[in-house]
Amino acid sequence: MGNNSEVTKTIALEKYGIKKAHVNYQLTPEELHDITVSKGLGVEAASGALAVDTGEFTGRSPKDRFIVKDDVTKDKIWWGDVNIPFEPHAFDKLYNKVVDYLSEKELFVRDCYACADENYKLKIRVINEYPWSNQFAYNMFLRPTEAELEDFNPEWTIVNAPGFMAVAEEDGTRQHNFAILNFTKKIALIGGTGYTGEIKKGIFSALNFILPVFKNTMPMHCSANVGKDGDTAIFFGLSGTGKTTLSTDPNRSLIGDDEHGWTNENTVFNFEGGCYAKVINLSRDNEPEIFDAIKKGAILENVILNDKGDVDFADTSITQNTRVSYPIHHIENIQVPSIGKNPKNIFFLTADAFGVIPPISKLTPSQAAYHFISGYTAKVAGTEAGVKEPVPSFSACFGAPFMPLHPAKYAEMLSDKMIKAGVNVWLVNTGWTGGPYGVGTRMKLKYTRAMINAVLNGDLGLYNYDDYHIHSVFGVAQPRSCPGVPTSVLSPRSTWNDDEAYYTTAFKLTNAFRENFKKFEAHCTEEIRRGGPQRYAF
Ligand code: ATP
Ligand code: MN
Repeated sequence: MGNNSEVTKTIALEKYGIKKAHVNYQLTPEELHDITVSKGLGVEAASGALAVDTGEFTGRSPKDRFIVKDDVTKDKIWWGDVNIPFEPHAFDKLYNKVVDYLSEKELFVRDCYACADENYKLKIRVINEYPWSNQFAYNMFLRPTEAELEDFNPEWTIVNAPGFMAVAEEDGTRQHNFAILNFTKKIALIGGTGYTGEIKKGIFSALNFILPVFKNTMPMHCSANVGKDGDTAIFFGLSGTGKTTLSTDPNRSLIGDDEHGWTNENTVFNFEGGCYAKVINLSRDNEPEIFDAIKKGAILENVILNDKGDVDFADTSITQNTRVSYPIHHIENIQVPSIGKNPKNIFFLTADAFGVIPPISKLTPSQAAYHFISGYTAKVAGTEAGVKEPVPSFSACFGAPFMPLHPAKYAEMLSDKMIKAGVNVWLVNTGWTGGPYGVGTRMKLKYTRAMINAVLNGDLGLYNYDDYHIHSVFGVAQPRSCPGVPTSVLSPRSTWNDDEAYYTTAFKLTNAFRENFKKFEAHCTEEIRRGGPQRYAF
């Protein structure tokens, strides 16, 4: 170093089995940005943001996500298609191959943590092959202070080697890419994929095991924000249903956009230190806060830039899942630290491409439990040729791919907390209106925001059931009017021009609900089963 006053701390990776690596420890995001650009691994967009291509994978690969089955996990995990077991010795063998691969390379190492609440803090060391993946870790995890870094003892390690390709037959993987959680060694081992979402969702999955099992705390795949009176709102929903979009509200302080814990001390805390927003069709008019967060420090993924360096947000030639990550302070109105009180309102977001679920409705406690376990949204045509009809998609707890325990465990915790906190639960259809996908249109963001604001401002006549209509198929309470929303939009049937087609489609969906719920029936009380739709096609 030469200059004593500016000793740059570094760390050795030998104890991880990584030999003779050139370690870049705790670089600033500016340094990582510059290194990425100088190595030709990314370019700077006109906004100042870094733009990278994540390579072969532009989304997570749930079929290549494994959990090591050993004494810590074998009796607790809900093994199956979602939580696929991996042999401990196979893990060790593959780990050794990965660290050999990383040896003698230039690597990027960062110490950071998850969980904004001191009592739940999980210290993490991230070891990346690529500089931009390490900048992603800076954006998405919480950033320790200088003092905290003095003697930082990371509990979990993420080893991220996108350039390492597994050999399925030798390594026990399905194909060349993998994301494996080892709860005994406290390692997330990721290889063969550069998709950054694997890094953040790896730690999310780990916390979804650690918090309920060891800390009696409820982890949630939801966004959260808080109003001027300190009232917290949380938004559950599967990918693309609007968690990030709707929690980013200039009039409410953002707690976080994706992963939270609900403690027994009546608080909600963010796991992360940043946001990861979809940018498909993003416009400054519709989503100014997210648009303006795309500046130096942000990382755009898999977008197309024109010759001036501007992003064409409509261009999906690489993927529909174009993204940007940024540290949470790129948003103006944020809660510091990222902690709120017990939620007053919970929104279940669904992008119903059948266009039959009301745009907003109030749920009873049994309906809330039923819909939480069902976790419904729909997938639309687009990727696969010939797919014209929407396909219902159910994902328990609105996040099954990240939930290592049986869904009933999370559902019990949520029901219990909802009842104790006296929270209101709303089902919000951010999907189609006026007909199904292909006939109708996506619900206007302006209307969805108006409906949510009406709930949060207490404008929906919560205590007067004359203000509601019980939906004949779904049994949910649909408000008759809502400030800022045309009355006709509130009733999905009246937005269709064809009653018969509406009911036929609605029954198609309720049948899918019933079929999906069968596997949970044995675990559910009569009370919860009653929360399902009221009418089906036989
Ligand atoms: P993920 O879990 O993958 O992060 P998410 O739930 O955070 O997903 P968003 O990133 O908020 O989802 O994506 C919602 C997308 O749908 C955005 O591109 C948004 O612009 C678009 N959209 C269109 N209409 C609406 C609406 N009425 N409400 C919410 N989002 C809408
Ligand atoms: Mn999101």
